[in-house]
Parts: sequence; structure tokens; C-alpha cells
Amino acid sequence: MSSKALSMDIKRRGLLLVLSSPSGAGKSTLSRLLLEKDDQITMSISTTTREPRPGEADGVDYNFVTIPEFEDLVAQDGFLEHARVFDNYYGTPAAPVEKALQQGRDILFDIDWQGTQQLAQKAKGDLVRVFILPPSKDELERRLRARAQDTDEVVAKRMSKANQEISHWAEYDYIIVNEDLDQAEEELFSILKAERLKRERQTGLLSFVKDLMGEED
Ligand code: GDP
Ligand code: ADP
Ligand code: 5GP
Repeated sequence: MSSKALSMDIKRRGLLLVLSSPSGAGKSTLSRLLLEKDDQITMSISTTTREPRPGEADGVDYNFVTIPEFEDLVAQDGFLEHARVFDNYYGTPAAPVEKALQQGRDILFDIDWQGTQQLAQKAKGDLVRVFILPPSKDELERRLRARAQDTDEVVAKRMSKANQEISHWAEYDYIIVNEDLDQAEEELFSILKAERLKRERQTGLLSFVKDLMGEED
């Protein structure tokens, strides 16, 4: 019997890491930091009918489409999930997610509670849900204004919907209060690392463990 070293060919089931929060709590910021730190995770780029904000690029932050284009994609079954959020439509394109999972990569989603519920139906054990809370309502509003990318009307609308989003917090596996950004980033990275180590995700370890125990495959 040959002895196998623990090597890169030991595959792990990819996981789907979802971030939700009221608008302005820090999902985009924490996503960016996690993507810089970890090269095994890929961002799911959503499709939306919302107008691009200053600095947002098509195909990078979102795929920006018209309402008829969005409707065509829905009709073609092109989304894993889709929902209406703040008067706009948002959806997760299915093909890139399927491709990344086949490559054994993890995927990061910045989606609302409606999309999370839909993904939970499809991904079951592969889904890890993280809800981000702001330290206070005042700070949430301050951050939305400080981002300085939305009109007063849009900020007011997002603040008025904050309670609705927060009311779904108990449907998530982990809660992070994003007060200190460094700490929140560390907590998010810890969740990802611990989830990757879960036994049920380490399917490739089976033959390694058999080998360790001196059993034939
Ligand atoms: P409101 O009355 O201003 O809240 O908005 P509507 O519900 O009338 O919808 C606004 C826009 O979204 C319209 O252009 C609709 O065609 C479009 N729309 C409404 N429902 C759907 C839907 O289920 N899917 C998609 N893709 N578009 C929709
Ligand atoms: P979301 O994606 O949830 O709508 P953003 O990531 O765009 O939120 O964050 C909203 C604003 O708050 C941004 O200007 C961001 O730089 C700022 N921000 C995020 N986290 C913190 C934090 N811990 N402390 C202070 N400001 C923060
Ligand atoms: P924003 O306009 O601030 O980028 O996003 C507004 C809201 O839409 C956020 O709550 C964000 O998580 C959510 N969102 C972004 N992309 C998707 C998506 O593909 N599906 C769903 N369901 N929600 C999304």
C-alpha cells in the first residue's frame, strides 16, 4: 500500500458564504476586505436594474441591466435567486456560481434576506449565513450619508427599510456587530476558516484517513 501525503488533491466541498444586513452596515466593505485576504473565495456578481453609483463599474460591482433585460434573464431561468429590493431588481446569476463550485472554490454573496431564503432552499448544507448589524441606528444613518453615493431620498428609504431587514436576523447562522472594522473583518475571516474545517466539507479526507489507519481504499 502506498502512503499518501496530505496534499492539494484533497478536495473540500465549496461553501456559499452569504452576507446580509441593513443597507450601510458594511457588507460591501467587509466583502472587499475578505476578497483581498483570501484567494480561495470568489465574489458572486449580482445583476441589478439599479443605476450604477459613482465609481461602480459594470461587470465588477454589478451587471447593470434594464428591466426588460432582467425579465428576459428571469424567463431564461438564469438566476439562482432574485428579488425586488428598494424598488430595484437584484438577482444572482446561476452559471458563475455553478462554475466556481465545480472548481472547488467558495463563493461570497452580498444579498438580502429574500435571496438568502431562496438560496437556503437550493444549497442546504453548503450555505453559511452571516448577518451584519450596525452598532446603532444613528451610526447606520451616519454611514449611509458618509458613503455619499445616494440621494437624501434614497438614504431615507433605506433607513425606513432597515427594521424590515434586521427583523430577519434570527434566520442567520452568525451575527457580527460591525463597530470596529478590524474586529469585524477578523470575525468574518474566523467564520470562513472554521466553516472550511467542518468535517462534512472535508470529503477528500476520507481516503487520507483510511490511509492513516492503514486500511486499503
Ligand atoms: P411601484 O408601483 O412604483 O412600487 O412599482 P411597480 O410594482 O409598478 O414596478 C416598477 C417596475 O418594476 C415596473 O417597470 C414593472 O414592470 C417592474 N416589475 C414589477 N414587477 C416585476 C417583477 O416581478 N419582475 C420584474 N422583473 N419586474 C417587475
Ligand atoms: P453596505 O454594503 O452594507 O450597504 P458599505 O460597506 O457600503 O455598506 O458601508 C457603508 C459605509 O460605512 C461606507 O462608507 C463604509 O466605508 C463605512 N463603514 C463600514 N464599516 C465601518 C466601520 N466599522 N466603521 C466606520 N465606517 C464603516
Ligand atoms: P445596493 O443597492 O446597496 O448595492 O444593494 C441593496 C440591497 O440589495 C442589499 O441588501 C444587497 O444585499 C441586496 N442585493 C444585492 N445583490 C443582490 C442579489 O443578487 N440578490 C438579492 N436577493 N439581493 C441582492
